[in-house]
Amino acid sequence: MAAPKVAVVGAGLIGLSTALCITETCPSCSVTVLSDQFSPNTTSDVAAGILIPHTYPDTPIHVQKQWFKETFSHLFAISNSAEASEAGIHLVSGWQIFKNTPKEQLPFWSDVVLGFRPMSQAELQKFPQHRFGQAFTTLKCDCPPYMLWLEKRLKASGVQIYPRKVADLWELHREYNIVVNCAGIGAHQLVGDKKLFPVRGQVLKVQAPWVKNFIREGDGSTYIYPGIDSVTLGGTREKDNWSLSPDPDTTQDIFDRCCSLEPSLRGAQVVKVKVGLRPSRQCIRMQREVLSRGGVKLPVVHNYGHGSGGFSVHRGTAKDAAHLVGECIAALQGSSSRAKL
Ligand code: FAD
Repeated sequence: MAAPKVAVVGAGLIGLSTALCITETCPSCSVTVLSDQFSPNTTSDVAAGILIPHTYPDTPIHVQKQWFKETFSHLFAISNSAEASEAGIHLVSGWQIFKNTPKEQLPFWSDVVLGFRPMSQAELQKFPQHRFGQAFTTLKCDCPPYMLWLEKRLKASGVQIYPRKVADLWELHREYNIVVNCAGIGAHQLVGDKKLFPVRGQVLKVQAPWVKNFIREGDGSTYIYPGIDSVTLGGTREKDNWSLSPDPDTTQDIFDRCCSLEPSLRGAQVVKVKVGLRPSRQCIRMQREVLSRGGVKLPVVHNYGHGSGGFSVHRGTAKDAAHLVGECIAALQGSSSRAKL
């Protein structure tokens, strides 16, 4: 069989990182990324980009931990390299705080982040309304720079990138041997996945270079994440809300909530308000499927539905999806050699 032609649908974080992992694990493949939107116009560009996992209820914890570990160690290596500033990856220390002591004081990811420990009483004095907290160091991606860095690496590896809206995965069967679906919330329409729903999130970017530590309410409702050029303030989680328009009342509410945790933010200037739709599901769809019409077959690998935690697990899921592409290639090679006999 000639070099397998693989189409990756979607140029968000998941599509770009999956395409990169495919080129790494299968250098003989010819990989093309097709997408109707690119950075800076994807959900991934809106994200705060902090590596703190979100839990997927229907995925075994050991799998989620493996995805997080892979992602953390991959980005940690980038943060320790000369590429760090161009890739927008940096370490950030801070606090996750709780008004009431949570049942689970040691989350599954506590031994993956660096220096995880309960906050001291002296640290808790900063947050008079909170009784308990966890201090740790994690990584943060500044999203648009990281997306551009991934695109640059893909182009350097010979990956073709084309603007195209795909109406039906089957339309690709004449041009490609394997299709990888990384359409994020777009998969709702593209493959009619009714288990996928949007969770709308609004964030503010503010100028507050004096804020160096992250602060996160334990339930993720309010957060302050310092990045390289600005600080991200959030957030909202509105299930089944498809609106991409920023809401001014929500902007004020987010700002007030963040100022109650970090009063020095009152002096900060809001430079941008962004909205994105988290592609949410009970579990990420990581699956091989074979589409078949009139005796013609098209192997498909799905990798979407990363919800609130795409940045935290993207490298791990990209590696798993690339592994599934490898299985599809082996199956295609098996059937082409059987056909020759
Ligand atoms: P997207 O970025 O939406 O990319 C999907 C791509 O598919 C796009 O390029 C789109 O154009 C393309 N596409 C869709 N349909 C079609 C079609 N029919 N034909 C062609 N192309 C198509 N995660 C974290 O881990 N940490 C955080 O701090 C964090 N903060 C967040 C804050 C907010 C406000 C939001 C909204 C999300 C946050 N997330 C965070 C979650 C993270 O952003 C997502 O999990 C991740 O971006 C999903 O990436 P994706 O590539 O699947 O989707």
